[in-house]
Amino acid sequence: MRKKKIWIVIFVCLFVFTSYVRPVDAGRYYYSGKLKGGVSGRTWAIAQNTYNLYGRTVNYYDAALNAIYNWNSINPTTTSNVDVSFSHTSNFSSATLKFVIDVQEDVFWDGAAAYFDSNNNPMNPYSDLGDWSSAVICFNAYYTNLPECTSSMLKALAGHEIGHTFGLDDVTLTSDRYKLMWYETGPYRASGITTDEINWIRIIYSN
Ligand SMILES: [Zn+2]
Repeated sequence: MRKKKIWIVIFVCLFVFTSYVRPVDAGRYYYSGKLKGGVSGRTWAIAQNTYNLYGRTVNYYDAALNAIYNWNSINPTTTSNVDVSFSHTSNFSSATLKFVIDVQEDVFWDGAAAYFDSNNNPMNPYSDLGDWSSAVICFNAYYTNLPECTSSMLKALAGHEIGHTFGLDDVTLTSDRYKLMWYETGPYRASGITTDEINWIRIIYSN
């Protein structure tokens, strides 16, 4: 009886320990993979510039472009390999980052990123080992065409999803709610990159 109890206590402690450590350690800021080939001198494209829904035409090209401008401003002098630079291409299939617009009702996500290897097979950023060659960012117009989603929020969402494709994970602790990688679109998420995202990108791409 006594031995059994001890094992149960050990098991519970182990579970609490692992479930506590993971989110505040590596899993909190980065995925296990990143964008293969780095974030310098890459291309981006968008499947369609605007989308009409609820009688509103939303300019997704501008949101993506402004988010890219923001990321392109990260040019640390100390580590040249994290000099983020993305240029627009009209060649959609060849782009490293591809933006698409879709309508998914009641799914509770307004933006999502998908990751692909060099053969265009999908990759799971948590469980698949290795880095991805390209990524697709999807705006869910079911939410993002609503008037509540301001152009500033849309740009922040684009920047946030770009952060995912670079290898950054969501941050979910309340103390992190003013960062770009805050998981939820709304009044808290930063409208642009904060010093934390800059530091995490430096860590990910400088080794
Ligand atoms: Zn996210």
